[in-house]
Amino acid sequence: MRKITLSNGETVEVECLSCAITSGLVEPEGGVVVETPYFHAHQDVAYPIRGLIILASKRHIKCLDELTESERLDYINILSRIRKAQRDVLGIEYVYYFYNEDTTHHFHTWMVPRYEWMYEFGRSVESVRPVLLHARNKMNDKGNVEKVMEAIRNLTEELNK
Ligand SMILES: [Zn+2]
Repeated sequence: MRKITLSNGETVEVECLSCAITSGLVEPEGGVVVETPYFHAHQDVAYPIRGLIILASKRHIKCLDELTESERLDYINILSRIRKAQRDVLGIEYVYYFYNEDTTHHFHTWMVPRYEWMYEFGRSVESVRPVLLHARNKMNDKGNVEKVMEAIRNLTEELNK
């Protein structure tokens, strides 16, 4: 069990954070960006990067090869739609994608937009963790967080029209 502090200050104990979020038990800050029959997208605002999206399966699975045929189709379609929305409404040129199967949650893909400032941390997979930590520790100011929230609203609107 993991203890999670909700944005209203309450704490809940859940087996799996991804289950808690995709089932609606835990409301992600900024809300649901888009939902499909099998997937759920939100931003983890703990990492205040404009346009960063976490796409989680609704089913509690760990590995890509556990996806059913219908889930695979749904996955690539929604992943592509989110990517296009990042480009169309936020002007994001490049995105890094990653997911790890040995997660303590369940199947979820990180879509991390690349911005100029990130290149000082390198331009490959090894730069992702330092970039996320930099954002969490140094970019949590009000101005940036407001931009992140605005981007969430823009993506949500684009993906649900
Ligand atoms: Zn789960």
